[in-house]
Amino acid sequence: MEILENFVLKSYNTFGIPAKARFFIHIQTTEELQELINTPVFKQNERLILGGGSNLLFTQDFDGLVVKTAQKGIVLVKEDAQHFYVKVQAGENWHQFVLRTVEEGWQGLENLSLIPGTVGAAPIQNIGAYGVEVEQFIFEVNAIDLQSGALRTFAASECKFAYRNSVFKQELKGKYLISEVTFRLNKLPKFNLTYAALNQYLEAQNIVLPTQKAISEAVINIRSSKLPNPEEIGNCGSFFKNPVVEEAVFKRVLSENTNMPYYSAGEGFYKIPAGWLIEQCGFKGKVFGNVGTYSKQALVLVNCGNATGKEAWDFANKIIDTVADRFGISLEPEVNII
Ligand SMILES: Cc1cc2nc3c(=O)[nH]c(=O)nc-3n(C[C@H](O)[C@H](O)[C@H](O)COP(=O)(O)OP(=O)(O)OC[C@H]3O[C@@H](n4cnc5c(N)ncnc54)[C@H](O)[C@@H]3O)c2cc1C
Repeated sequence: MEILENFVLKSYNTFGIPAKARFFIHIQTTEELQELINTPVFKQNERLILGGGSNLLFTQDFDGLVVKTAQKGIVLVKEDAQHFYVKVQAGENWHQFVLRTVEEGWQGLENLSLIPGTVGAAPIQNIGAYGVEVEQFIFEVNAIDLQSGALRTFAASECKFAYRNSVFKQELKGKYLISEVTFRLNKLPKFNLTYAALNQYLEAQNIVLPTQKAISEAVINIRSSKLPNPEEIGNCGSFFKNPVVEEAVFKRVLSENTNMPYYSAGEGFYKIPAGWLIEQCGFKGKVFGNVGTYSKQALVLVNCGNATGKEAWDFANKIIDTVADRFGISLEPEVNII
């Protein structure tokens, strides 16, 4: 078990922030983690569990221990008439796992193709895209209690999944390391084509009866045309959540902006695209020093060069303040601010 010191995290976060971790360790197995939990460096320091670093922003150096999940393995553990149950180690790359499900005909996750990050982080914010949220396919989650080292299994119902949220982002934040996720995937096709852009793309390709592979490829192509590739332009995807507002707020803003896009978010609540709000404030494609927003999507903050975490966070706050002044709506970061 090798603990590194003053470790530069630039290539460990997709925004490309050159923050340093005081201590850093790669964890390959559950046993290694259980051993680490008993060491003084683990007990005496603040800890951060790191997957692919695609949903966090280092605003400064991390004066503690970064534990990088690197456990690998994908196993079909059982099947019944309708489902495959597949157990996956936390350190597996999410997109590579989705491609494997497509290859094997384990169906359901194809709409979630090309989302960066690791399998272990997927339940944390209940990743979602193109009409699907991962909670629909999670059977159970195995996690290690970071105090005692004990293994606990969470049934999907105990994970309290919600829009970009779960128990692991709320009351259990920082208390567990997710070590394995078991997915329940479909044997028969039950494709989700509810998302307009996906449907339109398939129609334009004259695909009438799409296969799992066709859907995965469509999602990959649409995403590639809309979102910056973190390997080319540093970013952490959607920086803010889409705000959900009460009817009174919604009606006031709509009366002043009749072209505003929105979605119903349950009785008396409306979801407004954060990207639209940011764009209306003139930020789309604008660069301020080393940071800016992506030219095709104002919701994505980008590293235009050698951004520091502080610069990126100051810019995010400038957006939050401008949107609040103009619309009276508070934007909340979707990414984890460290
Ligand atoms: C270009 C781009 C597009 C994106 N598109 C989407 C999208 O469409 N939908 C979507 O939902 N998200 C999207 N994201 C966000 C991101 O991909 C997901 O949130 C992903 O699940 C993060 O995984 P990660 O391994 O990189 O997590 P990290 O960024 O490393 O960590 C995120 C949080 O989870 C914690 N964590 C990580 N692993 C574990 C673990 N094993 N146990 C306990 N805690 C852990 C970390 O401490 C941190 O708080 C996008 C990001 C980018 C850069």
